[in-house]
Amino acid sequence: MDDSQQPSHFLAKAVELATENVRNNGGPFGAIVVTADGREFAGLNRVTATLDPTAHAEVTAIRAACQGVGSFDLSGATLYSSCEPCPMCLASSLWARIGHVYFAADRHDAADAGFDDALFYEYFDAAGDRALMPVAKAEPEAGRAVDPFDAWRANTGRIDY
Ligand SMILES: [Zn+2]
Repeated sequence: MDDSQQPSHFLAKAVELATENVRNNGGPFGAIVVTADGREFAGLNRVTATLDPTAHAEVTAIRAACQGVGSFDLSGATLYSSCEPCPMCLASSLWARIGHVYFAADRHDAADAGFDDALFYEYFDAAGDRALMPVAKAEPEAGRAVDPFDAWRANTGRIDY
């Protein structure tokens, strides 16, 4: 690959986006999705600006890329983030079928700036403490829990994903 395709090239762009975002009332995070055919889509952290706790830079880059290519499937794409993706962004990348992820700063650098998601990482560990947010299976008052899946299987017009 030529220099313009090196991870360091896109990471520099992501870091620059992150720094600029701070000057625009955003969090210090930026990301770029490069699709399999080489198109670039940027994302910025807009959590406080849009009152959206899911508006991490990686997620907004994935959303932009999906809208740009007209698909929910980004197979073959690479995600470049200014900082190590949190569990939500990793899961979002898996759902988007991102192929590779590169990041510049790591979770410890983020923690030093007050962004500590260590508890979230631990939550997803097998031995993680779920007291942070208990999740429980329960029965619906009416209907069956699997009714939506029966409807899905019966829907011949469904788009599998
Ligand atoms: Zn995230």
